[in-house]
Amino acid sequence: MTHSVCVFCSSSDSIDPRYLELARDFGSHFGPRGWTLVSGGGSVSMMGELARSVRASGGHTVGVIPQALLDLEVADLGADELVVTHDMRQRKGVMDERSDAFVALPGGIGTLEELMEAWTSRSLAMHDKPVVVLDPWGDYSLLRQQVNVWVERGFVSAASLERVHWVVDPAQVLTTLEAVLTSP
Ligand code: AMP
Repeated sequence: MTHSVCVFCSSSDSIDPRYLELARDFGSHFGPRGWTLVSGGGSVSMMGELARSVRASGGHTVGVIPQALLDLEVADLGADELVVTHDMRQRKGVMDERSDAFVALPGGIGTLEELMEAWTSRSLAMHDKPVVVLDPWGDYSLLRQQVNVWVERGFVSAASLERVHWVVDPAQVLTTLEAVLTSP
């Protein structure tokens, strides 16, 4: 069964090359499964490496980019489909509509914001798509600690914590998504 997976990740050009390698590794698994990548349509950093790797593996890529970022010439012009939106809000709506699952790789505040929206709306049962975080090097460990503090103090339900699958290697993302997306 083919799936469309929305991936959030870094757009920074100041990160260690191992993050770019992680994005390439993850992307290489899409083609053999016939999966489509839905992403922010950037050509830079992990975003660009991921999209190019998905295509090199034979997978399809859909980039959803706001006009303002397109004007900055940072768009992934090689995308099989490039959807241009008016703004960031419309972009997130299209990314959401076009995908069956959300995956966050390491990133900065843009990635964090996208992950938190997917997580929050999942916790509120506004969608039932899996949310997976690929975190091999503990970039999200302080966030997880913070959320645990909120759980202890009653601000966040324990059930909300379980709405995210935390994994440490690309293969685990695939097995997690396959298990969730194919379960009846
Ligand atoms: P950050 O984690 O702050 O590097 O931001 C990355 C996230 O913000 C990505 O998942 C994108 O959705 C969005 N984003 C940031 N920069 C760009 C860009 N140059 N082109 C497209 N999307 C971007």
